[in-house]
Amino acid sequence: MPELPEVEAVRRHLVAAVEGRRIESVRVLRADYIRYTAFPLAELSGCELRTINRHGKRLFWPFVPQGCMVSHLGMSGRVTLRSSGDPSLAHTHLIIAIAGGIYLHFSDPRRFGGVWLYESEVDAAAAHVYRKMGVDALSLREEDLTVWSRKATSLKAELLSQKTVAGLGNIYVDEALWMARLHPMQKVRRITRESRGRLVACIGQVLRASLRHGGTTFRDYRDAKANRGGFGQRLAVYGKAGHPCQRCGAVLQSLVIAQRSTVICPKCQLRRNHGRNAN
Ligand SMILES: [Zn+2]
Repeated sequence: MPELPEVEAVRRHLVAAVEGRRIESVRVLRADYIRYTAFPLAELSGCELRTINRHGKRLFWPFVPQGCMVSHLGMSGRVTLRSSGDPSLAHTHLIIAIAGGIYLHFSDPRRFGGVWLYESEVDAAAAHVYRKMGVDALSLREEDLTVWSRKATSLKAELLSQKTVAGLGNIYVDEALWMARLHPMQKVRRITRESRGRLVACIGQVLRASLRHGGTTFRDYRDAKANRGGFGQRLAVYGKAGHPCQRCGAVLQSLVIAQRSTVICPKCQLRRNHGRNAN
């Protein structure tokens, strides 16, 4: 599944190519890929794409004078830049033609992703961000996690839920917890301020390192130029169960937490849920 760095890499490629350009036409090839429309998508013709923003794993496409589209890549979605003669990828559900001979192809074989269209950015944020998603993981600060002192969820479940931090999935949660030396089963309310600060720093470090390398390559992910990400070989724990920990040499273990496979170092990530001085 594309995670925050992959979505951000796609966003940057798209912004460089299409920001400020006029929409020429919109062609829907599969109606159920369009999850919601406040007005017909065809009415975007003639509108200008002001920019593309991101919150968590969703992209927000505000248009002038009207409309804001939201897109989510789901498990296997891609947005690719094509020119007029280029063939479509299999499972292309939406094509947006943009001035300058650019075509945006939205493809998604498994169709867990989709597109929504609202009257305004405020409506789009109300439907997708407020009450649903926390702070975007790339702008996370330690203060944003003070709400954790009242929560009984485990670290792994909380980080995957998107409720206080938006944009993290299985790969980067495992990587950040290993880097911060925190056990994924630890209850968030037991985590000290110091550990929260360390975790925030590690989340930023892992995401920025992945972004520098164009994300992680796995299954169907490609960025908007169809390049594979290069972060995969730099992962410390994800997919590395049975390998030695880079930090201490202990054998990495695989667990199932919050219904997700999880890899930890049993030596570096001790579970400290008991007592006031818990980690
Ligand atoms: Zn270790």
